[in-house]
Amino acid sequence: MYLKSLEVQGFKSFPDKTVLQFGSDITAIVGPNGSGKSNISDAISWVLGEQSSKALRGAKMEDVIFGGTQKRAPVGYAEATLVLDNQAGQLRIETPEVAITRRYYRSGESEYFINRQTARLRDTNELLMDTGLGRDGYSIIGQGKIDSIVAARSEDRREVFEEAAGISRFRYRKEESERRLNQAEENLLRLRDILTELEDRVGPLKEQSEKA
Ligand code: ATP
Repeated sequence: MYLKSLEVQGFKSFPDKTVLQFGSDITAIVGPNGSGKSNISDAISWVLGEQSSKALRGAKMEDVIFGGTQKRAPVGYAEATLVLDNQAGQLRIETPEVAITRRYYRSGESEYFINRQTARLRDTNELLMDTGLGRDGYSIIGQGKIDSIVAARSEDRREVFEEAAGISRFRYRKEESERRLNQAEENLLRLRDILTELEDRVGPLKEQSEKA
């Protein structure tokens, strides 16, 4: 899938709005140590739904927000927007390009947008499912990722193949249905308890009503 552009603002070392346009060929990002190269790939993982601050090289999620320098005050929120080409319709949304945005405030509040319209994290996850781009996708190969795939437990490795085969969506739906079924069963159990309790009260009440 072709990543067309990335816009960051208040994200890690990018306090100001910064737009990177990617060509359709290979893009290499070069720069001195500590200049923010890895922060760019962090921004891409983050906007695609990464929830682990460790995976984003921080201690807590707030570390993605520009924390200030000697010359600049910290900012209140971090935002990143990734624009993906969707001419081939790989993403199940009918627009030729899709903009995914994530915003995070110091208060801990998160916001997600798809094509600039409010969405939930779940919508982003579902949109990216089976494309290899999602949170658990294999499109971002960082240092050590190959090793971890090779050394992974077979169940974990199976997830990588399922994502590549485009069937993650079905596993996700199955798990979701099982969760709902369990919930419904628990509710049923509770209802049966209440019913038994009520049934126990019917006898004495009947007696009372007959006496009355
Ligand atoms: P290397 O080539 O050494 O891997 P790099 O170009 O990949 O470096 P990054 O790791 O992307 O560099 O960026 C590190 C810089 O980002 C550091 O200067 C760090 O202070 C800055 N930085 C990271 N998080 C924040 C933040 N929340 N606020 C301000 N600056 C930050």
